[in-house]
Amino acid sequence: MSDAIKDEFDLIARIRARAITRDDVLLGIGDDAAILRVPAGHDLVISTDTLNVGVHFPPETSPFSIGWKALAVNLSDLAAMGAVPAWCTLNLTLPDANSEWLDAFLDGFLGLSARHDVTLVGGDTTRGPLAITVTAHGFVPHDSALRRSGARVGDDVWVSGTLGDAAGALDQWRTSCPIDPGLKARLDRPTPRVALGLALRGIASACIDISDGLLADLGHILAASGVGAWIDVAMLPISSALANAFDETARVAMQLEGGDDYELCFTAPPALAQDVAAAAARADVMVTRIGTVEAQAGLRLRGIDGVVSDAALIGYRHFDARQDAGSA
Ligand code: ADP
Ligand code: MG
Repeated sequence: MSDAIKDEFDLIARIRARAITRDDVLLGIGDDAAILRVPAGHDLVISTDTLNVGVHFPPETSPFSIGWKALAVNLSDLAAMGAVPAWCTLNLTLPDANSEWLDAFLDGFLGLSARHDVTLVGGDTTRGPLAITVTAHGFVPHDSALRRSGARVGDDVWVSGTLGDAAGALDQWRTSCPIDPGLKARLDRPTPRVALGLALRGIASACIDISDGLLADLGHILAASGVGAWIDVAMLPISSALANAFDETARVAMQLEGGDDYELCFTAPPALAQDVAAAAARADVMVTRIGTVEAQAGLRLRGIDGVVSDAALIGYRHFDARQDAGSA
């Protein structure tokens, strides 16, 4: 059984006892602020995201998965910038503190942080409906971060991994179907593509992580870059779990609009296609070329039927995972 946590200071002490450290943390948890040293010749890259119960994850999500996901979505943002993650802070709002919940949460959070050599250097603790805000800090060599704004006409459009898996799990949860374990793992414990983001520095012209769905997130690259694109629906990478669980119409909608996959979508000149493949092999992640950047604004889809239509005109955008337990 879980013993009670006495107060905020007891809770902080329990967190502090488990946090790993690293040499560039001059002062971590325990003072009024942390002191951190950015390596010479590098820029500091910072990202923050909040997860609210019932909005960003179903209430029955395990504490392990909540801890994992709260950090993963932030590491995914750093990955999309091509940054090496180094430090994070954790703002915890808890309805009531019990040590069993906290231990399982920390198993997920600190388990993922250890994999990426990320140190928890501080945070804040308050009482209220369950919410977790994480801020992640990383580095890039000066002026080498990947941005949304660099896509150029003629570039290939690529995505990592497979698309729509998290949306598939969310759909099964919402409709009270048995949830496929593979899809559920993708929803609960996304894999931030950190190694791929690093490997794509100097190769990708623009990059974003897919938290709100391919159409929305690729749309951000296109808008920031002042270009358009077409993508071929038949080329979108799909997992066998998603292909087995849904008919074509449903799964294509999930691949195009499902959030929460935390794959990378990026562009690169066709002349660098071999370098993209080599980067993906180094990072041990599959990448798929799905389309091409064009001068004409907007996004066009070549459907399974071979017909090209304007993404904005064919009714996509109605499948919105954010409405209940969707994306960060
Ligand atoms: P202050 O009142 O000065 O903000 P706090 O009592 O909030 O101090 O925090 C004390 C120390 O514990 C600080 O170093 C803070 O960063 C750290 N801390 C508080 N909550 C958390 C948390 N949830 N995770 C990690 N560190 C935390
Ligand atoms: Mg405080």
